[in-house]
Amino acid sequence: MTDLKIRIERKAYQSHGQSFYELNSKEQFIVLGKALMEDLVPKWIDSRNKFKGKKQAYYFSAEFLMGRALSNNIINSGIDSNIKQTLEEMGVNYNELEEAEDDAGLGNGGLGRLAACFLDSGATLNLPLSGYGILYEYGIFKQYFIDGFQVERRDPWLENDSPWLIKNANESVIVEYSESEKVRAVPHDMPIIGYGGDTINTLRLWKAEAVEQFDFKAFDEGRYIESVREQNEAETISRILYPNDSTYEGKQLRLRQQYFFTSASLQDLIRKFKAEGYEDFEAFHKLHAIQLNDTHPALAIPEMVRLLEKEGLEFERAFNIVQKTFAYTNHTLLAEALEVWDKKLFLSVLPNLYEFIERINNRLIDNLKVWGIDKDRWNKYLILQNDQIHMAFMSIYATKMTNGVAALHTDLLRETVIQDWHKVYPERINNKTNGVTQRRWLLHSNPQLSGLITDTLGNDEWVTDLSQLKNLEQHLNEETLARFIDVKKAKKQELADYIQKHEYESVDPASIFDIHIKRLHEYKRQLMLALYIQDLYNRIKENPDGGWTKRTFIFGAKSAPGYYMAKAIIKFINEIANKVNTDGDVNSFIKVIFVTNYGVSYAERLFPAADVSEQISMAGKEASGTGNMKFMINGAVTVGTMDGANVEIVEEAGKENNYIFGLDAAEAIEKKKDYNPAVPLENTEGLKRAVDSLVDGTYHDNNTGMFKDIHDSLMNVDEYLVLEDFESYRQAQDQIAQDFKDEKEFYKKGFINTVNSGKFSSDRTIEEYAAEIWNVTPVK
Ligand SMILES: *Cc1c(COP(=O)(O)O)cnc(C)c1O
Repeated sequence: MTDLKIRIERKAYQSHGQSFYELNSKEQFIVLGKALMEDLVPKWIDSRNKFKGKKQAYYFSAEFLMGRALSNNIINSGIDSNIKQTLEEMGVNYNELEEAEDDAGLGNGGLGRLAACFLDSGATLNLPLSGYGILYEYGIFKQYFIDGFQVERRDPWLENDSPWLIKNANESVIVEYSESEKVRAVPHDMPIIGYGGDTINTLRLWKAEAVEQFDFKAFDEGRYIESVREQNEAETISRILYPNDSTYEGKQLRLRQQYFFTSASLQDLIRKFKAEGYEDFEAFHKLHAIQLNDTHPALAIPEMVRLLEKEGLEFERAFNIVQKTFAYTNHTLLAEALEVWDKKLFLSVLPNLYEFIERINNRLIDNLKVWGIDKDRWNKYLILQNDQIHMAFMSIYATKMTNGVAALHTDLLRETVIQDWHKVYPERINNKTNGVTQRRWLLHSNPQLSGLITDTLGNDEWVTDLSQLKNLEQHLNEETLARFIDVKKAKKQELADYIQKHEYESVDPASIFDIHIKRLHEYKRQLMLALYIQDLYNRIKENPDGGWTKRTFIFGAKSAPGYYMAKAIIKFINEIANKVNTDGDVNSFIKVIFVTNYGVSYAERLFPAADVSEQISMAGKEASGTGNMKFMINGAVTVGTMDGANVEIVEEAGKENNYIFGLDAAEAIEKKKDYNPAVPLENTEGLKRAVDSLVDGTYHDNNTGMFKDIHDSLMNVDEYLVLEDFESYRQAQDQIAQDFKDEKEFYKKGFINTVNSGKFSSDRTIEEYAAEIWNVTPVK
């Protein structure tokens, strides 16, 4: 591979004016990435050409939580061994270059990571699937802890240049907010390499720039600040990702962002459509399927009507084309996540678009009359109500399909949140259970388990067909299990080393690794695990010779910067960690670690090392979850509620191989009708003492009053039934500690989870979208 060596060396001279060997790791990473891109670009062009004239799917999403690309690109393009070997011969450590890449953190959590997994699956399945989003200059903030409090710092991930992004300035479009406000959208394309390298799709991310970069008149007149004002204002639009997950904030800038990327993307599609010679827009829906990832891109609906009218179509024809082109994915049942825009704010940003929403709403009113809907139910449908715009209603109405993301979630949508819509459109709401890509979450992040699987099955077909894992069942013997345990121990050791290096804490790989990693939200109930640990601490103190199983509890979570309760819970967990880890009576049995800056790259080390997957949301709140799937594939058992995709996980792997506890969704709703938190508080062993630790002087919150606020919210409301579910959670947790004493039996459960995880590949999910919503087919 001297060829690659020469190219790398040449690239270093070109792009850095230095010898490759003089560069630091970050620079070397960029040079390597650029050298690889030279190889990829011709294939990328071929790929684009092979889909010409065919129906294609477009995933519109405000978030793509891509993580790092180097290893993924090398693995998927199939040039693995050569590169590492070449670098080695050049005296360069591959792992250092790998670690030098900044995560593309263009998302908050599950929703953005799902979009990334979908793109990987689309390309791997040789489907024409492109992503459209925003090139945020700053991705999700970097998290630090100071005195146990979360502190946020900016994430300037593009500061060092990204080798994967190609700026296509010649395909820029102008986004027009009003007659007086226009912004240039400049596309930056990232290759999405399918496994095997046959298909390279595109993620097109828009960056905002001023239409006029520079006001010469102002400059000439000596008004220097003024001369770049327009540029600054325009660039603000793609500056930051809003760090809210599962909550909605009606911010003007957010509305600007949503319109920015949806308008730019539609203009891009229409321009290409016309450039290919099409004149009749009836053909549009036959060539395009556009998926709206939640309502964040829902402005595409009125915008498409507007653009089609500009092309000379009448409203009714335009609406019909829109309806046949778009489909909508709902991601949540939480009321606080539903997007509703104030009319006044909307008009201040998009004065010309409002009229199109009004006309869509009027059409809906005509339908409501025809359907014979009672006027007192109209508030369950109307897009415009009380001077507000309901984005979810618009998305259900103006698209051909609405899907939920797990069976339970879709059932709850049909039966509760949008039951009225379900009545008028019984076929419209359907299910597409989420999945994750096994290329990143198994092949790349757990090569040891991947090796075991490939050796045992005698082939690696599972890499593109995860259902093959079921064939491991016939090899479920002593030998395979012993090897599985060795793999798990190796991954736990790797994580322990990483934690030592990054958190300055030592953890014992012989202990249970019990892991709770996801965004910090009260409904996800990190607090319930915290209280269990406090209860366990109390019990160990009382009875140090109780034969306690060694356990390490690992948390990873970012809180939205303005989410007070979530930040309070982070502080509480850090205080518990501090007490537990420094108490000589206890720290030989349990340890508590809150890893800093949880993100995709940390996740890649955490999932493979887990023994226990914490999926303990209040039932009925977690739409699907995808973290639960990554754990399962990597052979962890789930301690969880019957929520989201947990239901399907235990359906596949068996309740007996997991630890299910707590109220189910129906029971939780019933319970909340008449709930007094004092009842479980008084009647559950260990609970009151654990809760009291928040206010009895055990812990200090630096006089913020945070711990009292957590305490009071539990005592007064306990919105998420933490106290109610505590008893059965405690039992499940104690059972895990008991079961771990028979290591073989315990790890057998974990392995059975891997064996039965085939359903949770995003390949399966994307095949369903392709066949049942998009009508797109593969081209090899
Ligand atoms: C998978 C993933 C998530 C989603 O986790 P859930 O447990 O499903 O909420 C969030 N963040 C990162 C970095 C992930 O990889």
